[in-house]
Amino acid sequence: MEFDFDDPALKAALALHEGQKRQGPGSRATTECLLRLAAPLPERPRILDLGSGAGAATLALAEIEGAKVTAVDVYPPFLEQLRAAAETAGVADRVDVRLGSMADLDDLEDGCLDLVWSEGAAYNIGFGDALASWRRLLAPEGALVVTECGWITDEPSTEAKEYWEAAYPLRSTGENVDQATAAGYTVAATYLLPDGDWLDTYYAPLMARAEQSDPADPHAVAAAEDLRREYRLYREHGHEYGYVGYVLRPR
Ligand code: SAH
Repeated sequence: MEFDFDDPALKAALALHEGQKRQGPGSRATTECLLRLAAPLPERPRILDLGSGAGAATLALAEIEGAKVTAVDVYPPFLEQLRAAAETAGVADRVDVRLGSMADLDDLEDGCLDLVWSEGAAYNIGFGDALASWRRLLAPEGALVVTECGWITDEPSTEAKEYWEAAYPLRSTGENVDQATAAGYTVAATYLLPDGDWLDTYYAPLMARAEQSDPADPHAVAAAEDLRREYRLYREHGHEYGYVGYVLRPR
């Protein structure tokens, strides 16, 4: 999927996420848990955070002693927010930002990274394609950590199925593990993100923001309504789908 920033509907949807700490489900605790599962890392690890948004994960990764983290995103306001947050956190010297697509990393050399990270973003270019195209970037002892939304029940409700068929067809954790294996990885661990990673750190501030959107702007009204629909679905059917973190090593 390529972003068309002239599309007012997309602009309104993205605007809701500006200024938020996270642009997708997750938490500091989850990032740290996944990082422990990806250990050990070499000294001065070289890290890429793909679809970084405003850098919720980037900032945690930048706390690793001697780390060099490059955050990649297509949306300039998120990268500006990330840069400012890195300054405030005192880790600006460990963080680079790169405006561009995570599907367009051809200039990076094979094996140049110890850790490739991507929370809640791989779906933008398709999970399987993302995994396949990022593999060559990893050093032999490197790891890829990626979170992806999927079914966590064998029998999803019609309502949840209809929503996700239209938004982004989900697979089960087992199917995503199969895709990772087919893309040349071994699966070191999987971790289901807890409910709080959706409700407390993601939806709570976002829904508050949606309530303040400009009633005179039809695109803002529509974006807020889409978000409310997504939130209601999670409240009613969130036990049927979830984000799962995959800790992968190149085979
Ligand atoms: N990782 C962040 C953001 C997740 S939201 C977090 O967990 O908070 C998904 C992000 O992917 C958005 O910031 C969006 O701008 C970005 N994105 C979408 N398509 C992209 C692409 N092709 N290349 C890089 N980033 C992309």
